[in-house]
Amino acid sequence: MLDVIIIGSGCAGNTAAIYTARANLKPLVVAGKEPGGQLSLTTLVENFPGFPEGVDGPVLVESMKQQAMNFGAEYIHGHVVEADLSERPFKLRIDHEWFETRTLIIASGASARWLNLPNEQRLIGHGVSSCATCDGFFYRGRKIMVIGGGDSAMEEANFLTRFGESVTLVHRRDQYRASKIMIERARNNPKIRMLTNTVVEDVYDAAQHLVTSAKLRNLQTNEVWEEPVDGFFVAIGHIPNTSPFIGQIELDADGYIVSKGGARTSRKGVFHAGDVQDRTYRQAITAAGAGCMAAIEAERFLEAEGH
Ligand code: NAP
Repeated sequence: MLDVIIIGSGCAGNTAAIYTARANLKPLVVAGKEPGGQLSLTTLVENFPGFPEGVDGPVLVESMKQQAMNFGAEYIHGHVVEADLSERPFKLRIDHEWFETRTLIIASGASARWLNLPNEQRLIGHGVSSCATCDGFFYRGRKIMVIGGGDSAMEEANFLTRFGESVTLVHRRDQYRASKIMIERARNNPKIRMLTNTVVEDVYDAAQHLVTSAKLRNLQTNEVWEEPVDGFFVAIGHIPNTSPFIGQIELDADGYIVSKGGARTSRKGVFHAGDVQDRTYRQAITAAGAGCMAAIEAERFLEAEGH
């Protein structure tokens, strides 16, 4: 029987691990499908306090893990496939093995949503990306395409004009979901071309392991054409990693954990940390702060029960 299991090894999970390990709770951290979380996909992080010269994302997250392990946190590979939170101790199936725990910190993050184009997955890392901050740099003077109509798409398109020769913003409707100010910023940027009522049918060229073009369709005219592209950025939202908890704790319509104040979920003894609950800030520093909050709440919860 464990005192605390932490699901996720990004900024939130690692910070929760540092705090709970230092409180002698011997946390077990389940690394998850994307160990290290979003930071492990980035390059230079310039806005994490304490690093005036910036810090490499994977180095930062690995250092956090090392810090937690120094205090006795244990990390295991694998991810949670099933959970029973109906009574305590909570039960979790991690791959093929069941574990029992007195408290649970869910820091499983949110994963990028993809378009599911025939060649998309094969070209991830070879021109297809879900992170402009991480990969924009590689497309200096090149042709960039961004897909989506929300704030992320606007933000990424604007950001990518720092690098690209041109940025084509492709959206499936003629109404944008993004806020007015973000749309205006994109409209006023001379490097951005906005295509509406347009969907992507595929991205090429998987044979060359390189993005060379995208096949587009205008939904009003049904015209289909191929456009040369070097960097293809998908910005159509994220999916919170909460599938094992559906029906067990309160989730909102999009699957994000509903906070009951602090780091509390609708189930006593189950706490949230990071992007799995936060659809607004989604920063390394806010995730770290949330991990700290969840750890302190778990610690106090156990203390109140005399553990
Ligand atoms: P979002 O608001 O959910 O927008 C997703 C966009 O992708 C929508 O325009 C949607 O089209 C499109 N989309 C979804 N699935 C698609 C598919 N299969 N094919 C083509 N297009 C698809 O997601 P987001 O932009 O990531 O923003 C998430 C949250 O973070 C929002 O609350 C946003 O305000 C916030 N955010 C804020 C800022 C900021 O203020 N600086 C920056 C980034 C994000 P439809 O519109 O047709 O559904």
